[in-house]
Amino acid sequence: MSQVKYKRVILKVSGEALAGSQGTGINPEVISHLAAEIKSVHDMGVEIGIVCGGGNMWRGETGAKMGMERAQADYMGMLATIMNGLALQDGLENLGVPTRVQTSIEMRQIAEPYIRRKAMRHLEKGRVVIFGGGTGNPYFSTDTTAALRAAEIGADVILMAKNGVDGVYSADPKVDPDATKFSELTQLDLISKNLKVMDRTASSLSMDNDIPLVVFNVNKPGNIKKVIQGENIGTVIKG
Ligand code: UDP
Repeated sequence: MSQVKYKRVILKVSGEALAGSQGTGINPEVISHLAAEIKSVHDMGVEIGIVCGGGNMWRGETGAKMGMERAQADYMGMLATIMNGLALQDGLENLGVPTRVQTSIEMRQIAEPYIRRKAMRHLEKGRVVIFGGGTGNPYFSTDTTAALRAAEIGADVILMAKNGVDGVYSADPKVDPDATKFSELTQLDLISKNLKVMDRTASSLSMDNDIPLVVFNVNKPGNIKKVIQGENIGTVIKG
């Protein structure tokens, strides 16, 4: 294996990252780009689990604001994450990367049910495992899913792939020209500085299980590889 800092990783791809500049839906160019980036680290022997978000299509909170029952709206969000997962699987398979999709909500015709031991076996065999459906429970997020799956499979790190933003800033860099980027933070810093990187459930799960996070811009070619090789191109958040 080439020089790698992290051997087993969870890559969290938000729905927003899959939508690219169009903001919603799935952008095929983004899928191809992401697949090539993932392939580059897969070729280095890194074991990769992917957790897809669904915010490019549907968020439970939005539905609830429209008057829907929250749990019902959340299940729709979970289905959105599975659509994203299938799109990413397609992109990876086009490049010859072996993948399996596992869903937390059973839909055996299109994906395996989530079975932790089976997922670990796939990773050991060099298959990229895409975790769809979030945790399978309403009121949770796919950030929490990333923290949960990372803890379950013993991942070394959670890679938070961001759409155009290259780390965690003191303020929104698109709005505040004085915003500065942090190269390193702790989970407690996120709380004390009120920085919104992931929700509190996800943060505390990562902290309790001592799983570091790397927030980085996935749009720039070569970035996933740099992160895997230990180059700090974004923000590292220690547990
Ligand atoms: N969701 C859920 N339980 C989970 C994960 C996700 O109910 O364990 C639902 C929730 O409605 C959420 C939607 O799926 O709004 C999409 O996930 P998320 O908002 O985390 O996606 P992202 O922001 O990463 O695109």
